[in-house]
Amino acid sequence: MSRHHEGITGRGRARTAASDEDVLARLREIVGAENVLVDEDKVEPYAADAVKEKFPPEAVLLPRTTAEVASILKLANERRFPVTARGGGVGYTGGAVPVEGGVVIGTDRMNRIREINADDLYVVTEPGVTTYALQQAVEAEGVFYPPDPASYKTSFIGGNIAENAGGIRSAKYGVTKHYVIGLEVVTPTGEVIRTGGLTSKNVVGFDLTGLICGSEGMLGIITEATLRLLPLPETTRTVRATFKTMAEACACVPRFNRARVTPVAIEVLDRNAIAAVETEFAFGFGADAGALLLVSVDGHASEVERDALICERVVRDGGGFDVMRSETREEEERLWDVRRAISPALKKFGTMKFNEDVVVPRSRVPELVARIEEIGKLHDTFVVNFGHAGDGNIHVNFMCDRDDPEAMRRARAAVRDTFAFSVELGGTISGEHGIGYVKAPYLDMALGAATIDAMKSIKRALDPNGILNPGKMFL
Ligand SMILES: Cc1cc2nc3c(=O)[nH]c(=O)nc-3n(C[C@H](O)[C@H](O)[C@H](O)COP(=O)(O)OP(=O)(O)OC[C@H]3O[C@@H](n4cnc5c(N)ncnc54)[C@H](O)[C@@H]3O)c2cc1C
Repeated sequence: MSRHHEGITGRGRARTAASDEDVLARLREIVGAENVLVDEDKVEPYAADAVKEKFPPEAVLLPRTTAEVASILKLANERRFPVTARGGGVGYTGGAVPVEGGVVIGTDRMNRIREINADDLYVVTEPGVTTYALQQAVEAEGVFYPPDPASYKTSFIGGNIAENAGGIRSAKYGVTKHYVIGLEVVTPTGEVIRTGGLTSKNVVGFDLTGLICGSEGMLGIITEATLRLLPLPETTRTVRATFKTMAEACACVPRFNRARVTPVAIEVLDRNAIAAVETEFAFGFGADAGALLLVSVDGHASEVERDALICERVVRDGGGFDVMRSETREEEERLWDVRRAISPALKKFGTMKFNEDVVVPRSRVPELVARIEEIGKLHDTFVVNFGHAGDGNIHVNFMCDRDDPEAMRRARAAVRDTFAFSVELGGTISGEHGIGYVKAPYLDMALGAATIDAMKSIKRALDPNGILNPGKMFL
């Protein structure tokens, strides 16, 4: 039986059930019977992502080749059932879950790295390789793949491209789209197309590579990616300092650049984030710690030593106290422990965390954080802010209890106010996590009607039958 989930978008449509026996028989012919999962306990692991809301698929398909993916999509168009691609399943906006039923294509078996070319600085990979495995493989060849979402041990390259994932190193190196130079994609109607190529320069035709990056699995299924690499930096160093206020800490950000240093990472924690990690893990921060700044530099050893000293001077001149500068890899790891401690520390503040990732021009971060504190008070909701001061992308965490509907309502109101203020500051509602179904109700706060219509036209042109990942992004 088909399970249609009309609750999320109200758009559930009558479809041919993917679980009809004749459809399942065709799917077994395409990918092999052992790669079609239908039992409840087998599909369960594919029912949710990091949002943790469950939408069990009618079947999970585990193809190995591009041709198999293309055949699945052709059948889906013929019999009209939804298809949703899945990578590591650690998205934060429900992108990989089949909210309108149908099948999930798990890319777990498409996990080979096909070529690492350290001379021409590219890697060709299938989509089901984890970000971490790819980083390790290229680093073993002396080259570097910079995008580093915090989920890197479990997220897949396909999911990173579909979400245009960022990370701590984006202050210097940018985000996933800056490294994707070529793709093989199965379109929603089952055609196989190639975009870009092996070269970082390529201006032939429309930039379909750019279109697919960040398209949240709605415009095609990525079956191969060519990613640009860089020489591997020799070493890194970190400076950590506390400040009385977020404004003082954030004011250092442009000063690093004016001192001709481009830090690889600039992270900030607000007063509540510091208090949370202090309560749980006793790092030794005093009551006067109103903000914490972590700044790292990378490159050749001699440059890195010099740049770390410059960063130390900048933070001291900017009012930083309890300043620490790492001299070894171990010391550096210890300085970063505080950042890693935030997520576990937050658990005691509620069973539900509205984890938003708004982004504003980086000079506006202090205003943003100050207003979010007011918004938290207005809606009687505890809020913790931390994140990427280097690119203005702040992780805002409104904490409450899942079982308390009134607290959940207040937290949702706080989220909406935060989105509105981020847009007012010239920013937007998501810098990393995307829209999926979770943020679909807010899309029109960030984009005008004509822009949304243009996006819908592209979706309709590529997916006339609404097969691929329906129920996402657009209400
Ligand atoms: C603890 C934690 C930390 C995180 N930290 C970060 C962070 O620092 N930066 C950041 O950007 N995000 C972060 N995220 C969010 C998330 O991990 C990223 O969005 C990541 O890119 C998702 O990858 P995934 O493989 O899990 O994708 P999934 O969740 O499986 O899928 C995400 C989307 O991609 C689509 N998709 C997957 N594979 C393909 C494919 N082959 N072709 C086409 N579409 C596909 C899916 O349909 C879905 O829409 C974090 C999440 C968690 C839980």
